[in-house]
Amino acid sequence: MKTEFIIAAAKAIQQSILANENTLESLDRAIGDGDHYINMKRGANAIVDIAEELTNFAPSDALNKIGLKLLSTIGGASGPLLASFFMAMAKTLASQTHKEYVLNENVEYSAADIAAGFAAGVQAIIQRGKANIGEKTMLDVLIPVANQFVLLATQNCEINPICTTLMQTAEQGVLSTKDLIATKGRAAGLGERAIGHIDPGAKSCQLMIAAVCTLLMKA
Ligand code: ADP
Ligand code: MG
Repeated sequence: MKTEFIIAAAKAIQQSILANENTLESLDRAIGDGDHYINMKRGANAIVDIAEELTNFAPSDALNKIGLKLLSTIGGASGPLLASFFMAMAKTLASQTHKEYVLNENVEYSAADIAAGFAAGVQAIIQRGKANIGEKTMLDVLIPVANQFVLLATQNCEINPICTTLMQTAEQGVLSTKDLIATKGRAAGLGERAIGHIDPGAKSCQLMIAAVCTLLMKA
């Protein structure tokens, strides 16, 4: 994975968020305060704005910079949570010191390395937000995707079938939030009134995963 890919992924994520304005806004209006689209757009734009600067960094440093930028730009609950994902992923990739990075050269992170980084990112969200699966949050997408990713990558599965499975897992995760009562975040105050609505953070995570997987499958 090169920093170049991270930048391309950030741009693909930005496009997907912008293309789903109505969906994200109405989901958060139904069970939150309606700002989730604005928060995600602000975050995605901020990362694309620093794309030029990111090209000077190794992949792990670029991911850390992305986390720091998200921390200072996205408001709401989702900002610090997503920021902690990128910072923890950066730390895990950086700790793979046998993969010495030479600027502008490819770092041969294996799919298993990247899966381990993704899983560490999800763990950081769990710790920061003190939530887990089944609480009607972004974790209902992220935890099953992380588990599948680690499993398939350690089985040396090819990248295309990994991506296809992860996109399906993310879709299922989004749908699973519909019938749940929220026990974390703003929707927790709604009790049974949250039933029948998809969680906005789960939806935006699914969109981001689909954007990155689609890009990987094209590469
Ligand atoms: P806010 O809730 O502050 O308005 P956003 O609207 O940007 O922030 O984000 C809401 C999303 O954040 C929710 O849909 C949910 O997925 C996620 N979320 C909220 N609290 C938590 C938590 N403790 N752990 C994981 N995700 C959470
Ligand atoms: Mg909100």
